[in-house]
Amino acid sequence: MKRPLLHQIVHGTCVDLSSEGKGVLRHGKDVVFVDNMFPGEEGDIEVLFAKGDFYFGKIKKLCKISKNRVEPRCKICSSCGGCEFQQLAYSAQLQWKTSKVKEQFRKIAKMDLEVLPTLGMEEPYFYRNKIQMPFGVDQKGNVYCGFYKRNTHVIVPVERCYIEDERAEHILSVLKKLMKAHRVAPYDEDSRKGVLRHALIRTSYYQKQIMLVLVTNVDSFPGRNNFVKAIVSSCPEITTVVQNINTRATNVILGERERVLYGKGYIEDSLCGVQFKISAKSFYQTNPVMTELLYSKAMEAAELKEDDVVFDAYSGIGTIGLIASRSVRNVLSVELVKEAVVDGKENAKRNGIDNFFMYCDDASSFMVRMAEENRHVDVLFMDPPRKGSDERFLKALLKLKPSRVVYVSCDPSTLARDIAYIKDTYEVKSVQPVDMFPHTTHVETVVTLRLR
Ligand code: SAH
Repeated sequence: MKRPLLHQIVHGTCVDLSSEGKGVLRHGKDVVFVDNMFPGEEGDIEVLFAKGDFYFGKIKKLCKISKNRVEPRCKICSSCGGCEFQQLAYSAQLQWKTSKVKEQFRKIAKMDLEVLPTLGMEEPYFYRNKIQMPFGVDQKGNVYCGFYKRNTHVIVPVERCYIEDERAEHILSVLKKLMKAHRVAPYDEDSRKGVLRHALIRTSYYQKQIMLVLVTNVDSFPGRNNFVKAIVSSCPEITTVVQNINTRATNVILGERERVLYGKGYIEDSLCGVQFKISAKSFYQTNPVMTELLYSKAMEAAELKEDDVVFDAYSGIGTIGLIASRSVRNVLSVELVKEAVVDGKENAKRNGIDNFFMYCDDASSFMVRMAEENRHVDVLFMDPPRKGSDERFLKALLKLKPSRVVYVSCDPSTLARDIAYIKDTYEVKSVQPVDMFPHTTHVETVVTLRLR
């Protein structure tokens, strides 16, 4: 295949933002996707590579600048790979998210739906309660930590991240110094040598609790106890330290085995008035402020009644189901990850909730059984991972026919695909995007459905 534009400089105007948030530039019949270029902007683009029918490039020089381009707070946002949108005004980010959801429904589900304006944050910075960073060491022996540059395994050193809980910054800077002083070597992916692979920090929003997880390549290392003592004495805000052991050559951050080195081994936080115990491995939404808004929108959408039987599928540690349990007769909940189910059951106990029943199973298999047994369900909450639900689940849903369905999604394309499957039986009442991840291209959506 001929690639006449490859490695050329092309001049053009950005006409749109793609569903991945890249600027779209047309050059004759060809399309070039450009990072950090916004509609209306004109300039010279260096074409870097081609994939399928498309080219990908970066800005060489801009001669016309969008009114929506802003000075990013973070100076390394172009290289880090975490925030694609720090240079786009927040109001324009929200507008793009709304139109992305609308577009996915139009393209994939062939549905022309009204999409409510994306709900955004008042202060869209320092929102993440979960921080995970790999470490490296420079030629002078100084330890650094940061993020992997997009699509690579090169660490871009980060001193200050503008989307993470600010409390992590001090802990990470102490950790870097103490690693050098205590000779705890960062793990090197190529040689597979070294000790510390990642630091994972989880912060509680409502309680003064912070968990530090040291992900190590080895079971034990010399001076571990003194190292942990030094960390806790320099950072008294840390309430628990857990060692997670991951000896595999893998991109997955956490390993199977864990050991509590200090404190209780978990932190507690609350959402919508319910207390949650969160351990290192459990899924817990990463933006606490917007999670409360997301869940309150989901509850509103469900119009819960005292007598309702509720089913919470893909339930994590039971957050949505436990919040709903206070307003209804019974909640059934299903989740695949064992540890999350253990947390969920304990969370019910801690909150004195006795009408919440949690099962560890594949959501589709569970749903199929429920349909076969002709179980009665009034409300279904479903909150699947990015790949969405599947045909088995949706087919069983059409048999079970709860009168109300609330679909919480973190990927508009799989959301549209799944809704298309049930649209003849369920009417879409509202589509509400919520900005859980400011400055990134991710968008969360709550869809309210009613049996026709
Ligand atoms: N509702 C929860 C979790 C949503 S994330 C919350 O808001 O916190 C999606 C969850 O689905 C994860 O906990 C994941 O472990 C779980 N999951 C993924 N595939 C699943 C499957 N096939 N069956 C059941 N649960 C699954």
